[in-house]
Order: sequence, then structure tokens, then C-alpha cells
Amino acid sequence: MVTKLYPWQKNVWQQWQQLIVNDRLPHAILCAMPDGTGRDALVQYLSNTLLCLTQGIEPCGFCHSCDLVESGNHPDLHWIRPEIEGKSISVDQIRQCNSWALESSQFNAKRMIVIEPAEKMTESAANALLKTLEAPPKNCQFVLLAESPHHLLPTIRSRCQVWYQPEISGEVIEQWLGETEKLKVSKQSITLNGYLPLAVKSFYQDKKQSAHQLLLSSFDNCVKSSFCYTSDVVKSLIKLEDEGLCWLSYLLSDIHKRQLGIMTTWVHCDEKETIERLAVSISVDTVYKQYLSLNTLRQQINVHSGLNKELLLTQWLFEFIGE
Ligand SMILES: [Zn+2]
Repeated sequence: MVTKLYPWQKNVWQQWQQLIVNDRLPHAILCAMPDGTGRDALVQYLSNTLLCLTQGIEPCGFCHSCDLVESGNHPDLHWIRPEIEGKSISVDQIRQCNSWALESSQFNAKRMIVIEPAEKMTESAANALLKTLEAPPKNCQFVLLAESPHHLLPTIRSRCQVWYQPEISGEVIEQWLGETEKLKVSKQSITLNGYLPLAVKSFYQDKKQSAHQLLLSSFDNCVKSSFCYTSDVVKSLIKLEDEGLCWLSYLLSDIHKRQLGIMTTWVHCDEKETIERLAVSISVDTVYKQYLSLNTLRQQINVHSGLNKELLLTQWLFEFIGE
């Protein structure tokens, strides 16, 4: 058995197959696709195909090479990730890649090097990779995975062919989760998770749905108490990390839209009552100001890991009270 493609990946895959048939697959591909699209599966499928001993445009699923790819033990497939989750990909890891790229294949076929997430390469790591991409070794396929090509050095970007995930509709996500997981998903959960199918799945299966409700109700209670009870909101936000800040930012944006009389395009389309109530409890100016400062704070927290989040978030909540 080989990893399967997701329904929304068929289009990109068919184009790659054309390139493989015509022997025109570029030696370096940049998949500029968010994590929740299942980009790993797409690249795994490509690895399977390129390394399969049948050398066709689909993996056979039965040969020794296919088995090794699937079990993660293929000697010609190198998947480079940060050694510690969330940290950088070091120059030493890339130097190791460069030497693999020059080795000959163990199976007399291609070698494949995948870098994920490519934006985690340090500048010196990226420069070390650049040298190899400029003079690509024969039969070595590079794949870089990144949220956006703009997070990479322009010199790296220009050496790769960039591929994007075509937009995935809400209907496709609903249908996929209905068929494969027997889940009935709401429109709100799809917008809340940025139309990323795997994020929607995790929202239902990893208890995030209740965490989201808890965050909303603790924010609501905090507003009711004139921002006396901030600790539950702060606790929720620290536990949820970036996702919680993202949800709260959507909530403020929805409240602001309501205040401006924009009644559609809310992310929280199932929370009408809460939004209506909050829209009259907080002033228009405060909502807008706090929305902007939350987004700035979110960026700071994501870039600098050593910040005192509890203090910063409590301060942010107190700013609702105003001067
Ligand atoms: Zn095979």
C-alpha cells in the first residue's frame, strides 16, 4: 500500500505526471502550500513514483523500493526537518544533503531530497543549498515545502519551479470529511480553519472545537465583568498558542464587521448572538484598535519565543478598558 493522494491534489499531480512522462520535471520544485493541505502526502506520492522500480507515472505499490519509501527507510529518500520541532534547519543538515545529492543511487534510480519546512533553513543553510541548486547533480530531485515562496531567499526561489495548491472549496472539504471520517462539518469550522481540510479534520478530532467554544465564552465573560476576569482568557490563549490568537483575531474582526453593518463574510457565522452582544458592549474604536494590536502581538509572540505571554496578553486585555 502506498500513501494516497487527497482529492484536491489530483490536478497538480496530473500536471506532474505529464512532466515525468516527458522527462521535464524540474530538478527543484517548491511546493508553496500551507501545512493543512496534506502537502506531505503529495510529496510522498511523488517520491514513491520517482523511486519505484517500475519507473512509471504511478507507484506500483509492490516493489522493494515502494515498500522502503512507505516504511520511511528508503536509502535514496532524505526528508530534512528541523532536529527539534519548531527550530531551524541547520547548515550542517544542508551540508549532509549536499553530499547525499552527489552520491550515486542505491537502487540505480533517482535520489530525492525533501526539505520541510524550507523557511526554517538558517541563512547559511539556505546559502549552502543554493550552491547545489545552481549546479544540480544528475538524477537528484529536490523538493522544498513552504507556506509561501516569499518566506525564502529570492535566490533560492528563483532556482525552483513554484507550485501552489489550487483553492479548495468548502463543498470539497465537506464531502471529503463526510465520506472518509463520517463527519458533518459546519461552514464556520471551515472558514475558521482557513479552508485547510486537514486543519478542519483536526478541529473535530483533536478536541479543538470545545477549546474554541471555551475561548469564546471566557472572552464573553471577561467583557461582561468589564475586564475584571482576564485569567481564563489568558489561560486559554496560552494553551492554544497561535491558533487561539488567530481565533480571537477573527472574533474581533467579526465584531467590527457587525459594528460597521457588514452582515455577511463573518468567520463566526454560527455565533450570531455572541457577536451581536459584543458589538454593543465594546466601542467601535476600541474593537478596531484592539484588533490591530492583537495582530501585532501575535506576530511578536511568533517571532520571539522568550516573551512573557501571560503578562503581554493580560496587558492587552486591560487595554480594552481604555484611558
Ligand atoms: Zn514500486
